Amino acid sequence: MNKVTQDQIKVQKIGTSKIDQVDFNKLLFGKDFSDHMFECDYIDGKWQNPTIRPFGPLTLSPAAKVFHYGQAVFEGMKAYKDDNGKVFLFRPDENQKRINKSAVRMAIPEFPEALFFEALHKLIDLDRDWIKPGNGNSLYLRPFVMATQAGVSASPSDEYKFMILMSPAQAYYTGDVRVVIAEHYSRSSNGGVGAAKAAGNYGAQFYPTNLAREKGFQQVIWTDSDEHKYLEEAGTMNVFFRINDTLITAPISDRILDGVTRKSVIALAEKEGIPIEVRPVLVSEIVAAAKNGTLKEIFGAGTAAVISPVSAFGYKEDVYELPSTDGGYSTKFKKALMDIQYNRSEDTFGWRY
Ligand code: PMP
Repeated sequence: MNKVTQDQIKVQKIGTSKIDQVDFNKLLFGKDFSDHMFECDYIDGKWQNPTIRPFGPLTLSPAAKVFHYGQAVFEGMKAYKDDNGKVFLFRPDENQKRINKSAVRMAIPEFPEALFFEALHKLIDLDRDWIKPGNGNSLYLRPFVMATQAGVSASPSDEYKFMILMSPAQAYYTGDVRVVIAEHYSRSSNGGVGAAKAAGNYGAQFYPTNLAREKGFQQVIWTDSDEHKYLEEAGTMNVFFRINDTLITAPISDRILDGVTRKSVIALAEKEGIPIEVRPVLVSEIVAAAKNGTLKEIFGAGTAAVISPVSAFGYKEDVYELPSTDGGYSTKFKKALMDIQYNRSEDTFGWRY
C-alpha cells in the first residue's frame, strides 16, 4: 500500500513574493499563507508527483469523497526561528507518526516518512523569510490529507491528496479562558475517532462550543461520552489539573488525542520532580477540590497556545473561579517549552529538530 515513487520533488517558484502584503504585527491565526505549498497525489496505489508550487486554489470534482464523507486528517505543528536566524521544529517526528495513525483510522493510505520530511525541509527553506524571530512568532504548518476520488458511493476513496500549507503566526494570547464542563455533548466516544486528528472531529465541536460561548465560556472541557463523569480534553487541547502540588492528567485512550505538548509537559514534570498522576480525572474530585481550595490550576496544553491557563470553570449551575496562575506550573512549563523551541536553553530531551 505504502509504495514510494522515486520522483524528486518538483519546485515551481512564485514570481513575486506576497510577503510585503502581510502585516506581521497584526496576524490573525491561520488567515495568511506563505508563498508556497506542497502537494502529492495518491493514484494507482502509490504516492506520486510531489510538487511545491505557489499557494493557490485546487481544482477538485464536486463529487470528491472528502466533501461527502469527510475522509480527511490533518496535523498542526510550528517552525520557530532563533535570534541567529536558525530554524527549528519541535518534535516533528511525533506529528509525522500521528498523521499516519490518524490516516489508518480513517482508511487513508499512510504517507511515507522520508517524503514528509523532505517536503517539510524544502518548503520551509523556500519560505524561511516568513518565519520571524522573537518570542511567540512562528510559522504554523498544516499537513493534511483528503479523499479526492470523484464518486458518492460511501466507501473509501482510491485517490488522495497530501498537502502542506504554512501560515505565519504570532504569540497566541488566549486571554481569560473560562471553560464549561460538558454534560450533554461529546467530542468522541469509545471506539470512535477521538484519538485521530480527523477533520470531522473539529466540525462537530463547533456547535456545542458556540452554545458554551453564548453562556460566557470560551471553551468546553470534554467529558467521557458514557456518563460525563471524567474530564478528558479542553477545547482542542489536552488538559491538566493541579491539586495542591500534584499535577493530574487523563491517560491517552481512543477518545483522547495523544498531544505532543501533553507528553512534553509530563516529561518536564517528571524531570523537575513535580508529582504527576496520569489517570482518569473525575469531575467530582475537581469540583470538590475547587470547593475546598486545593485546586490550584487548570491549564490546556497544545501546539497553538503552548499552555493556556484556565481562569474559571462552569459545572451545572455553578461557576468556580480559580486562583491566579502567575508563577504556577503553567507559567513554568510554558517558559520551559518555549525556551527549547526558540533555542534558548539546553535541549536535554533532544526535542529540537
Ligand atoms: N487535543 C486535541 C483534540 C487537539 O486538536 C490538539 C491539537 N493538536 C491537542 C489535543 C494538542 O496536541 P498537540 O500538543 O500535539 O498540539
